[in-house]
Amino acid sequence: MRLSPLVFSLAAAAAALLALTSSPRAQSTDQDEATSYKSIAPHVEATWKAGFARATITPERFIWMAGYGARDRPAEGKLTDLYAKALALEDEAGTKIVIVTMDLIGVSKGMRLRIAAEVEKQHGLGPESLLLNASHTHTGPEIYRKLDLPDEKALENAKTRDAWEFTSGLEKIVVRLVGEAVAAMEPARLTWNEARCGFSMNRRRNYDLPEDHPNAKRGPNPAGPVDQAVPALRAEAEDGRPLGVLFGYACHTTCLGSYEWSGDYAGFAQAYLEEFRPGFTAQFMAGCGGDQNPYPRRSGVVPGISDVMLTQQHGRSLSNAVEMAFSTHPKPVTAPLKTAYGEVTVDFDKPGRAPHDYPVQVVRFGDSLTLVALGSEVVVDYSLRIKRELAGKAGVWVAGYSNDYTGYVPSVRIQEEGGYEAATGYARSTEERIMAKVHELYRELEE
Ligand SMILES: [Zn+2]
Repeated sequence: MRLSPLVFSLAAAAAALLALTSSPRAQSTDQDEATSYKSIAPHVEATWKAGFARATITPERFIWMAGYGARDRPAEGKLTDLYAKALALEDEAGTKIVIVTMDLIGVSKGMRLRIAAEVEKQHGLGPESLLLNASHTHTGPEIYRKLDLPDEKALENAKTRDAWEFTSGLEKIVVRLVGEAVAAMEPARLTWNEARCGFSMNRRRNYDLPEDHPNAKRGPNPAGPVDQAVPALRAEAEDGRPLGVLFGYACHTTCLGSYEWSGDYAGFAQAYLEEFRPGFTAQFMAGCGGDQNPYPRRSGVVPGISDVMLTQQHGRSLSNAVEMAFSTHPKPVTAPLKTAYGEVTVDFDKPGRAPHDYPVQVVRFGDSLTLVALGSEVVVDYSLRIKRELAGKAGVWVAGYSNDYTGYVPSVRIQEEGGYEAATGYARSTEERIMAKVHELYRELEE
């Protein structure tokens, strides 16, 4: 039977409605695909290659969790799965970078070194071409943090044994994912943009308040430094098919304190971005959120809203910021791709703490974008300072929690104020040494 134009358009409208109300992952129709294949930047040439890979890393057993010293027992359930995800990028000259993000408390130096050695051996990628970032979720498993491998005696301790078993398994997964992401690379259009999100707040006390002020010794500090930028780098295939996004935010993933595995707000944000984009990979890269917490935080603050609901709300507002970045004139990411990885020795004033080789990584995408990845829990001052000092034609994106995990890295400002994030005992020279390394690597890539 031949359908009249009216009947046909009614049928098409019904099909579109069905597509909207059903899950695209479960039931992909031509209608869905036509919708999801629309390029967001058709004027940008597909001169890059991009590939994504992912794996679930939720521990198979309920082992001890990381993040809060007050935990008195292992995990007891699962709210959401935990993931490791890899993005491989290659410019026309064949230069590559693989960025691995994980729903995890941190990337210890030992993990970084062991993974980098295997990645070089198995995939031929040098340390400058590998960036490892952890979301710092406080509802993930404890990792093995020491530089050296555990000996038999250390493994007699059940907690250490579980952490090592998990960490060594994860290391193998990450090495495999790097290879899978490189193998998945296809011609791609790369764009980036920056939007904003508002739930992070400086969690330190306001040291400017007089001693007798009622809030003098209490955090958070709504007037304190924050970095609420949400940078987002998006890859789509030549035909417009969305491949994935790497996005960042500088805020602790500490909405939840339960005994259930979860990626916290960052896990929900990734899930929301992937929900109606079949085959799409969303990766969260933690920023310099050492002194930043999400607010409102924890039950009882908003009547009728549970911790999980609040976490989902923050996840949704972050995913909305990424959607905003997609939909408001994203900019082309240009070549050449240049990458540098270096270490700078930092000292401690605290007696008994040996000097530490601190990793700094700089990635330059032509004159469009510069990505700086710093180790451990850097406070927001580093992000703001790097953006100020590298300001120019290219956008600046600063990640923390990358390639190392040794506790808070305070700025001189915070060292002078004192308080929680200053207690790690880094010497006053730390900020200047890290900044000098950032500038050194940045200039090295200019040549
Ligand atoms: Zn932390």
